[in-house]
Amino acid sequence: MSSPTILLSNRQIGDVNRSRVLRALCDHGPLSRADLARLAGVPRATIGTIAQGLVEDGLLEEHAPTREAGRVGKPSRPLWFRDDAGLCAAVDFGADAVRAALVNARGDVLTRVTVPCPTSTASAAQLEAAVVEAVGGVLRGSPAEVLGVGIAVPGVCDPATGIVRGSGPVPGAAGSGLSEAVAVAYGLPVLVDNDARAQALGEKWFGDGRGIATFASVQTGVGLGVGLVLDGELYRGAGGATGELGHTVVAVDGADCHCGLTGCWETIATLRWLRAEAKRLRLPDAERLDAAALVALGTPRANDLLVVYADHLAVGLATLVQLLAPERLLLHGDVVGGGELLRALVEERLRERSLPHLRDGVEVLLSSLDQDAGLLGAAGLVLSERFALAA
Ligand SMILES: [Zn+2]
Repeated sequence: MSSPTILLSNRQIGDVNRSRVLRALCDHGPLSRADLARLAGVPRATIGTIAQGLVEDGLLEEHAPTREAGRVGKPSRPLWFRDDAGLCAAVDFGADAVRAALVNARGDVLTRVTVPCPTSTASAAQLEAAVVEAVGGVLRGSPAEVLGVGIAVPGVCDPATGIVRGSGPVPGAAGSGLSEAVAVAYGLPVLVDNDARAQALGEKWFGDGRGIATFASVQTGVGLGVGLVLDGELYRGAGGATGELGHTVVAVDGADCHCGLTGCWETIATLRWLRAEAKRLRLPDAERLDAAALVALGTPRANDLLVVYADHLAVGLATLVQLLAPERLLLHGDVVGGGELLRALVEERLRERSLPHLRDGVEVLLSSLDQDAGLLGAAGLVLSERFALAA
């Protein structure tokens, strides 16, 4: 049986072109009409009408004219999102607080609200109350209509249903109570997703993943989580259960992991491992050591441990390189504290552990969004849905 011919109405074609234009802006930043037509794949003849509609709807504005060096003729006026366009309420979870922010389509954080909450022990009701309060604080300060609420949860989430299947760090988030409580309180669309995936989305819309087709965003520190953008799309896997690279076995007969398996990557490349090693090597303040403190110590023994930490991180990253051939690996969390010294060590060890034809194609970067990547990604969840862009 042949597939049916799909006929699009003029209105639908208009919506498709509008989505492409918004997506090109999200991917590339401010653009002239000519660049917008080219990058969005929209006919040059219709870009003026589409852009004008977006300006009249209050989404876009024209910036001051810029003349590119060496170009003659009329200077271009780049189009970009207005300061109050695409407002989203974004939520993520710290160890002792629920964090919320108002984020615009440019990726600017306009307002922040922090509600103290012991997230690892809070009941579902306590957690829901804290999230509703945090979102309420953000909405009260909003200068314009808010499109929706995005929530980044450190756990297994099914974004299609809004159900959190389980969360080790925030057990009270399990179920569908969070999204229901926020939807009932404010009548807005609520989008829920895993925090590592939200970080990848934050990088894709607003960070070093902008305009990059295939990259991985890797959370380091207490655990190891991965968010993947493949060929321009956030990859979620069946039931939203992707990203568990931390529990890939890297050491046969290795140590017990908290997940119930043995020899997982998490048993050799997290803060728990780093602190145990530091204690064994009798480094000062071993129980509280992190990458930043290790670099600051700077003793020969500390430097040796830093090299091993970098190598152990590279073990898991090499799996990503071998499997996906990403253009970039964007590192978050503890590694960022180790600065350029640790980044360069990780990159060096990664090259040694990767196949020759893959090792030169990948850049290792410390995330410039880092701690805000989850919040920005939560906003990206909303923008993707409301602007009808594929996430
Ligand atoms: Zn494990």
